[in-house]
Amino acid sequence: MIIMSENLSEFIRKLSEVYDPDSENSFVSLYINRAVDKKFIDRRIKACESILKKDELKNFTNTVKDILDILRKNTGDNIAIFASHKHNFLKYIPLHIKVENLMIVDSSPYLRPLARLQDEWESFTLLLINSNYAKIFSVSMGKVEHTKKLSADIMNKHKKGGWSQARFNRLRRGAIHAFFSEVGEALQKRADERIILAGPGQAKLQFRKMLPKNLKDNVVDIIDIDIDDKVELVKKSKHIISEKEELKSQGAVKLLKAEILKDGLVAYGIKETLDAAKNGQVELLLVEKNYVPRGWICENCQIVKEGIQRTCPCCGKKTSEVDIIEEILEFAERTDADVEFTDDKELANLGHVGAILRFK
Ligand SMILES: [Zn+2]
Repeated sequence: MIIMSENLSEFIRKLSEVYDPDSENSFVSLYINRAVDKKFIDRRIKACESILKKDELKNFTNTVKDILDILRKNTGDNIAIFASHKHNFLKYIPLHIKVENLMIVDSSPYLRPLARLQDEWESFTLLLINSNYAKIFSVSMGKVEHTKKLSADIMNKHKKGGWSQARFNRLRRGAIHAFFSEVGEALQKRADERIILAGPGQAKLQFRKMLPKNLKDNVVDIIDIDIDDKVELVKKSKHIISEKEELKSQGAVKLLKAEILKDGLVAYGIKETLDAAKNGQVELLLVEKNYVPRGWICENCQIVKEGIQRTCPCCGKKTSEVDIIEEILEFAERTDADVEFTDDKELANLGHVGAILRFK
């Protein structure tokens, strides 16, 4: 039994590598928000049990048992579980974002909702700072975790007598500088994430000036906020991140169009994009958010195509219906491509999916 411990992109990549070439019905993927429609799971189990037969039914029943075990042990409302009893496979991830209920039986784990969550909820670092106090938060998939608190004893008032005002100011500046350096070092551990700086007054701006270039480049926004107002802070920063995400999607579509005009490293439309993903050429995959075209797959020949086809034109065996975008996504994830989901109408006009390629 394998249980999730790695980060989300690693988690998705590993799931993308798993499939059963011999059965189209051996993996069960469950996305569940337990706060709504409590009968959902029972209803889906019944429906699937009435359709599956023999070994597939046996595997399904056992797999569902494993899944229900996980649900009993986990108290959170939202969770995604991927399991196949036959393959001794069980992975899950508790989510802090509401998901749409979904139970899918297929030859591989169904990744599209998870990939979309990953795209829309990029992890970031939130730093709340003033001149003598700092708190670092990590925000991942909508969950805020406090990772580190730092503080320094910094004199704020010049007492009468003793030091001159100038000397006092110099010492105070030195102490703040030392404190900011310490905070900067703590931030280096999260150097691969985008950073939002927050806090009252000028401290956050001074702090930003002092940051080494690699961290400064990661600062996507600055929020002016009370040092104690964590609720408002989290709300504002999530809003900022989702705005940045929107911009990133638009940027990706722009890049795709530019590459098409140049006849550059690009693929678009279902067929081209699928071929590129299969060949491991995809650097960045663009997917229209809610587009679900019909497609079919021959597990025997490993042919995937758009449309409806009951038997394979190559080998004559029975085909299965697939979500063709999911197939493209799985190929792309296996080769570590980035994925952008977008509502952009221009992508719809270009065939609903597209890709920037690594090579041609
Ligand atoms: Zn075939």
